[in-house]
Amino acid sequence: MRWGDARRSDNVEDRGSGGGIGVRHIGIGGVVIALLLSWATGRNPLEMLGLVDQVEQGMSPPAASAPANPNDPRVDFVRAILGDTEDTWGAIFQKAGRTYTAPHLVLFSGAVQSACGGATSASGPFYCPGDQRVYLDTSFFQEMRDRLGGGGDFAQAYVIAHEVGHHVQNLLGISQKVSAARQDVRGAGGLSVRLELQADCLAGVWANQAQQRHQWLEPGDIEQALNTATAIGDDRLQRQAQGSVTPDSFTHGSSEQRVRWFRAGFDSGDLKRCDTFGAQNL
Ligand SMILES: [Zn+2]
Repeated sequence: MRWGDARRSDNVEDRGSGGGIGVRHIGIGGVVIALLLSWATGRNPLEMLGLVDQVEQGMSPPAASAPANPNDPRVDFVRAILGDTEDTWGAIFQKAGRTYTAPHLVLFSGAVQSACGGATSASGPFYCPGDQRVYLDTSFFQEMRDRLGGGGDFAQAYVIAHEVGHHVQNLLGISQKVSAARQDVRGAGGLSVRLELQADCLAGVWANQAQQRHQWLEPGDIEQALNTATAIGDDRLQRQAQGSVTPDSFTHGSSEQRVRWFRAGFDSGDLKRCDTFGAQNL
C-alpha cells in the first residue's frame, strides 16, 4: 500500500507516557480484587487494575494529551490514514449537505482513560462517542502480526477505518439509536452485530474512495485486509480463547459476515449499501 502521498492529519494525540492507569483512584479493595483476578486468570495485575478501575470509575475525564511525534514512522502512518479518512468522509458529508467533524485519534501504551472509562491494550482498539476519539494501543499492530497472522499496511489501515466508521455512525445518530434499544442488542443477529458489520462496510467505503484518489492499493492489499477481518472476527477470537464458538456472545459478527460487509462497501463505495439494519440476512 503506497500511502506516502496521503494528507497527514493533525488530530493524532499521544498519551504514551502521561496516560497512566489511574492507580490513585483505586481503593485497597480494588487492588486486592485485581491481584485475585490476576492470580485466577494468570494475567498481569496492572492490566487487571485497569479493568477494575474501569468498573469502579465508569465515566472518567480524559487525561491530557500531547501531539504525537510526527517523526515516528508509526505515527506518520496513522496520521496519513486518519487524514485520508477525513478527506473521504468530509467529501461524502459535504455532498449530503452536512459537515463532517473529524475525530481525534489517541495513541496509548498499556492503559488509557477515556470519557467512556478506562481501557487497557487487552481491550483492543475502540471508539468512544463521549469524547469522539479513536483509541489505539501502539502494541496492537505488532500483536495483530504476531498472534493473528494479520499485518500489512492496508490491514492496519482497515482497523483505523473501522473505528472511524463508528465515529461516522455516531455523527449520523445510528449508535445512539442502538444504545437506546440496549435490551435486545446481543445475539448473532442483534443490533450490536449489525452496528459492527456496518462499521466494516463503512471501512470498505473509505477504501473504495481512497483507491480512487490515490490508486494506492497494491495487488494483495484487499485480500490481506479481509484476512485480518477474518482473523479478528469474533468466531475466530472465541475459538482461540475457549476452543469453541458461542454464537450468543457474538459482538462483531462472524468472519464471513465481516468480509461480506467490507466488500459491500468497497465494491460500491456507496454508503447506502451499508444498511446492515435493514438486511434480512447478514
Ligand atoms: Zn467495532
